[in-house]
Amino acid sequence: MKRSGFQQNPVTNVPLQSMMEAVKNMLIAIGENPEREGLKNTPKRVGEFYLDFFSGLNEDPKLELVTEFDENHYEPVIVTNIEFFSVCEHHLLPFVGYAHLGYIPSGKVVGVSKLVRVLDIFSRRPQIQERLADQVVDTIHNELVSDSTYVFLSAEHMCMTLRGVRKSGSHIVTSAERGDKAGLELIKSGISIDTLKGLE
Ligand SMILES: [Zn+2]
Repeated sequence: MKRSGFQQNPVTNVPLQSMMEAVKNMLIAIGENPEREGLKNTPKRVGEFYLDFFSGLNEDPKLELVTEFDENHYEPVIVTNIEFFSVCEHHLLPFVGYAHLGYIPSGKVVGVSKLVRVLDIFSRRPQIQERLADQVVDTIHNELVSDSTYVFLSAEHMCMTLRGVRKSGSHIVTSAERGDKAGLELIKSGISIDTLKGLE
């Protein structure tokens, strides 16, 4: 999608100006002076960042999987160690980690980068990690009509590190699977635990 130079949300038409106002009010509420030198351009920077980061709300991940190829390949296709960044919808703080995924084609395959794009689009929305895994697995499973699909996510949540329990280094692991059990076992056995990032 062509971005609008961040002057407004291309779908909601909410202008950047209203986001800048919100950030400015937040700074005032915490006792800061939004006019001081270091903060003068902060509302604009934060507003532009939010418009850019949450662009996943304006994109349809299904479209990424439209260009598929007929291929007589019925063995697992597995992608591991995909770095991803998302934002938890409860605190609007980032969670970052690694995704590992696989599917068993039923005669159709897509470029591997397209699978990564599906994860990317869903990540760039206010999320919870459980739903992120479900959305990615459902999209790949349904759009590719695959026999078995598996997604595994491991991430560190800043809302756990910075607030509440304040446990840095702890990871949340979620996974989602669809389809034939034997196929899923094949995918999982192809994801060797020794080489996975996010689990060390
Ligand atoms: Zn949170």
